[in-house]
Amino acid sequence: MAKKLFIETHGCQMNEYDSSRMADLLGEHQALELTERPEEADVILLNTCSIREKAQDRVFSQLGRWRELKLQNPGLVIGVGGCVASQEGAAIRERAPYVDVVFGPQTLHRLPEMIDAARTTQQPQVDISFPEIEKFDRLPEPRVDGPNAFVSVMEGCSKYCAFCVVPYTRGEEVSRPLVDVLGEILHLAENGVREVTLLGQNVNGYRGDAGAGRIADFAELLHAVAAIDGIERIRYTTSHPLEFSDAIIQAHAEIPKLVKYLHLPVQSGSDRILAAMKRNHTALEYKSRIRKLKAAVPDICISSDFIVGFPGETEQDFAQTMKLIEEVGFDFSYSFVYSARPGTPAADLADDTPEEVKKQRLAILQQRLNQQGFENSRRMVGSVQRILVSDYSKKDPGMLQGRTENNRVVNFRSSNPRLIGQFVDVHIDEALPHSLRGPLVAAASDGAPARRPSPAPRDLSSIGRLSPSGPCGYSSSIPPAERRPTEDLERTPGTPSLYPGTLRSTPLRQPLRTVRRAPAPDRTAPGHRDPQPR
Ligand code: SAM
Repeated sequence: MAKKLFIETHGCQMNEYDSSRMADLLGEHQALELTERPEEADVILLNTCSIREKAQDRVFSQLGRWRELKLQNPGLVIGVGGCVASQEGAAIRERAPYVDVVFGPQTLHRLPEMIDAARTTQQPQVDISFPEIEKFDRLPEPRVDGPNAFVSVMEGCSKYCAFCVVPYTRGEEVSRPLVDVLGEILHLAENGVREVTLLGQNVNGYRGDAGAGRIADFAELLHAVAAIDGIERIRYTTSHPLEFSDAIIQAHAEIPKLVKYLHLPVQSGSDRILAAMKRNHTALEYKSRIRKLKAAVPDICISSDFIVGFPGETEQDFAQTMKLIEEVGFDFSYSFVYSARPGTPAADLADDTPEEVKKQRLAILQQRLNQQGFENSRRMVGSVQRILVSDYSKKDPGMLQGRTENNRVVNFRSSNPRLIGQFVDVHIDEALPHSLRGPLVAAASDGAPARRPSPAPRDLSSIGRLSPSGPCGYSSSIPPAERRPTEDLERTPGTPSLYPGTLRSTPLRQPLRTVRRAPAPDRTAPGHRDPQPR
């Protein structure tokens, strides 16, 4: 009987992507098959997240539950990866001595050897180094599972926001070469993937080796991906405002395959707090970027991340965040109470706001955002939306579901599983708090899952448009006094489309390499201080 692998994933989409790559790797090298039942697994992996304390706490309670399995089956290998592993290293075993393997986000490709070594030596294996040259070079082709796929294009973070552990757990920003990213997406497209989500901690900070000594920026990458035959929709997450260049705005205007949806974390609407967070931009500069984007793509929906209760946040600071939320008209957010992370500069800041007050602020913020999102959903009632059908509805097997360009789940009644993997048009009849519903209008392609539907042109008046400004129209938001050009956060000259044609074959696969943006600092060197953002 085939040996079984169970993976539990905590945290972000980057972790989900990493977990799927671990499954590919261990499937190829150790013939391990995925199971949903830890009790029947031969290898159990926990891919952890340390972005907030709560996420970190979950690690040891989860490991505690698996301790019993190890007692019953001493041959079981338990591995811990991800950001908590990177942060804690061998110390994980002090609290959970039955853990056999500890690996970091940049050493997951070494899992087959580490598992073998743990088995043969009966000794724990710990490797949380940052050998970023290797990782993508040693991973197999990704397995295709449905019409949507994640593709990691860069990793790590060099922004050093005062609250964030990512630069310390995942290392500095590293981009994959352009040719490698395109090779992976071509492979996915040839195997029926229609929508890709480009991933990175600051994905729009992509700077990939484009050959001949040239570096491709994120706008160039978007144009190149859009030229791949079969890929009909492109999403990306998550972005940093400092990297949201004019060239990317132009790409949004020029590339119909790029969804009319942007996730651009802002964290706070108060300049004082933004400065304390070391975000290096003001609220006005953020709005200026959004204003420019809305001028290029009027009905684009914007979502964001917020941290509530950062040390020193006053009622006035919070009021400024609420003001920004209304002005921009955010459609959705990931929002959390600030969680002090050991080793980050903000962990040393005095914080006298009671936890209860922080929780109340978060509830107010989330209620407002839910309301705005729901209002946008209601504006979509009566429109026809093109969705990529991904699966059966979670609640009703008589329904199928997919997502709109602006990332809303749509459920529609159908008994035709051949629609999974295709674009269809649905007439939106009903807006629910977390989804939309309506009858199928037409399939946008002919039923063969691997074939390409005609792309949805931007100017089809019936598709996704109700009014000139669409569901997330920017009509109300920014006060006229602020509607004036401001300094760009970063001036990047407009990138002309380098890929006007369509890529069809796979001549691009080359030896895989990664490109650093900056040499990694030696944090152990005497007198070392992490670089302060501009
Ligand atoms: N590109 C993003 C940006 O501009 O910040 C980085 C995304 S970060 C990896 C994921 C999100 O986790 C952040 O946007 C922030 O809202 C949240 N986060 C990070 N550190 C946090 C902390 N210490 N407490 C609460 N939330 C935190």
